[in-house]
Amino acid sequence: MTTSIQIGTMKITALDDGESHMPPMLYPGLDFDAHPELLESDGTYHIPGACYLIQGEGVTVLVDAGSGPDSIPFPAELAAAAGLAPAPEFISVGGRLPGRLAALGVPPEDVSTVFLTHLHGDHVGWVAPGGKPFFPNAEVVYGAADWDALIASAPAEDPARTTMEAAEAAGVLRAIEAPTVEIAPGVTAHHTPGHTPGHYAVRVASGGQEAYLLGDAVHHPLQLNDTGISFLFDADAQHALRTREELLAQFADSGAAIGISHFPGLAFQRVSAQDGRKWTEV
Ligand SMILES: [Zn+2]
Repeated sequence: MTTSIQIGTMKITALDDGESHMPPMLYPGLDFDAHPELLESDGTYHIPGACYLIQGEGVTVLVDAGSGPDSIPFPAELAAAAGLAPAPEFISVGGRLPGRLAALGVPPEDVSTVFLTHLHGDHVGWVAPGGKPFFPNAEVVYGAADWDALIASAPAEDPARTTMEAAEAAGVLRAIEAPTVEIAPGVTAHHTPGHTPGHYAVRVASGGQEAYLLGDAVHHPLQLNDTGISFLFDADAQHALRTREELLAQFADSGAAIGISHFPGLAFQRVSAQDGRKWTEV
């Protein structure tokens, strides 16, 4: 699954590395009984894990690095806690990103920057799977505050920790902390904390047009009009809500195209604000 848009001279392509199977309990405040269409037959809500390839003159930036080559079995305790019987086979299925990039004619060597919106395991998987940087010529850029919160404090065998520590050992990491940081010509990172303390969104601007890649700052489409829906892995749900509302207010009727990691179908969206806020597919 890939979807592309053109922003001035820049092309942005959404690519899915895989998908995750989320039990309803991960979305506090979302009434799945009122939205049974959201759940698959295994009782979970399926979300894609999107990465974004930004291509312009002299620019090849990959935003987020998927969950990596390995699929993760559905934890038995989580299935029990969520009342899922039988337990789904996997909580996350990965491994598609290299094939997606190859289909676009982009070898790993061509990627000059990998920008990580945040350091959760479903966004860092291809940074250094098996201990070796997958994109051999890329600098890997991330929000500094996520290191202590999500990597240094994780168990030694945590996949996000091992892939990020391998990248650190390879000397390819660059941590950023400023509110706004230029990543490449026309590509800037904007600190949008809440989901994680070091979360950044990415803005692409060219030819008077703009797009934002929001990472997990918005997690579910229904959050557009329901401030009571959060995500269990928001590090600070109140801060995440403030950041989300600021972003959505900024986007309303702005014409900006928005890419959101875990929205169904990977389609880019706009926010229209006539008669209440609505998503409209670009
Ligand atoms: Zn995520």
